[in-house]
Amino acid sequence: MKVLLLGGTGEARALAQLLVSAGVEVVSSLAGRTADARLPVGGVRTGGFGGVDGLSAWLLAHPVDAVVDATHPFAATMTAHAVAAAGEVGVPLLILRRPGWTAAPDDTWHWVDTPSAAAELLPTLGSRPFLTIGRQGLPAFAPLGLQGPSAVAPLGLVNLPSILARCVDAPEPLPTWCTLLLARGPFDLTAELDLMRLHQIDVLVTKDSGGPATSAKLTAARELHIPVIVIRRPPLPAGVEVVTSADEALAWTLKR
Ligand code: NAP
Repeated sequence: MKVLLLGGTGEARALAQLLVSAGVEVVSSLAGRTADARLPVGGVRTGGFGGVDGLSAWLLAHPVDAVVDATHPFAATMTAHAVAAAGEVGVPLLILRRPGWTAAPDDTWHWVDTPSAAAELLPTLGSRPFLTIGRQGLPAFAPLGLQGPSAVAPLGLVNLPSILARCVDAPEPLPTWCTLLLARGPFDLTAELDLMRLHQIDVLVTKDSGGPATSAKLTAARELHIPVIVIRRPPLPAGVEVVTSADEALAWTLKR
């Protein structure tokens, strides 16, 4: 049995490990945008396929018994392409998506659909935001950062923009309107509390990525009584099988 595993997530790496251990031949596919990416076990190919046609052509040239889309919940284009191409070629497809986050009773979460909507809402909630939305959504917040450096900067530093943005890799070109922190999870609660206190954060902006690796910021926001703007996930394509764990995806695959 051979599987194309669309990856770039911790779940995809976990599933690759499970599949390889079960004797399944796996080709994990990575977009190739993250420098120093964590590689899964098994075979790996890197780079875009070239849209639906490119992926269909790849599937015809490299026959597989199943496709598992274990990309990030916000990688909606790849998911849509995978559904279309697998349908065209007639290969069974499964989506593996970790569950989203849910607010606790003490939380003040504001749900929005897009980074632009988050940027619009943000000034009504705070003036020292912490943006944890990856680099792709950052440009929507640039107009907020052009209002000048903060009056009170942490540690006596001056001229630090009051917007703190955290990404795995630096956006290009480098934004000058925010203080940029390059870091890759997992993040723990103590570090998140320290960081948010240091930068005097008063509002957190996040995507509903789900999963434990980056959820400590939500607990920190709760403890610091900070409101959170949560960007909703793009909807999943209709009529596709979806599971939420690597174990379930393994079981589905072994039944093909
Ligand atoms: P996207 O917007 O859905 O995809 C854009 C294009 O990138 C796709 O059309 C495809 O190019 C290529 N691509 C994406 N994922 C690929 C994969 N696994 N293998 C081969 N090509 C892929 O995706 P994205 O949001 O930029 O995410 C890119 C990758 O980073 C994904 O693998 C995702 O799992 C991972 N990731 C994303 C986020 C996030 O917040 N979006 C967070 C963590 C990890 P072609 O059309 O040329 O095939």
